[in-house]
Amino acid sequence: MPLKRPSIGRQTSHSKRKKREREQESSDERSQRQETNRHREETRRAQESAEERRQRQETDCHRATSRRGEENPAERAQRQAADRRAKSAFNAAINIVWLKAAFSYDLTKEYGSDPKITIGRMDNICMHCQAKKWPGEAPGLCCTGEKVVLDAIQNPLMCSRIF
Ligand SMILES: [Zn+2]
Repeated sequence: MPLKRPSIGRQTSHSKRKKREREQESSDERSQRQETNRHREETRRAQESAEERRQRQETDCHRATSRRGEENPAERAQRQAADRRAKSAFNAAINIVWLKAAFSYDLTKEYGSDPKITIGRMDNICMHCQAKKWPGEAPGLCCTGEKVVLDAIQNPLMCSRIF
């Protein structure tokens, strides 16, 4: 069995030199470098196909799982705290964007393109109970995979007299 070589990419002379360069850069240089990287990544992602996107996400998932497996409890707690802060900041930013947005409606904005606004069509049909569901709903939300079977809804007597 070959020896495990964790973090091999972080031990090359190139990565060590880059690390030293980053330690010496000013905050402006750092912001500029991060902005350039962000722009480059956005451009690359905008051009990738659905299959490339799926593969990238799968690779990212494997990499994150591997990295988390090597964490000690202190590193895990630190990562989880950072994740909570990032999620909180993300939610706060979204809430600020939509805070009282109805009172300042702007005709030029494409509100429908925001994923918080457009949740898709209710055209997912359960194969067991034929319930109509939204795309984000779990498969077992309606009948738990046919474990729950309800009687058909009867027309109320009063309604049948009207029609
Ligand atoms: Zn169902």
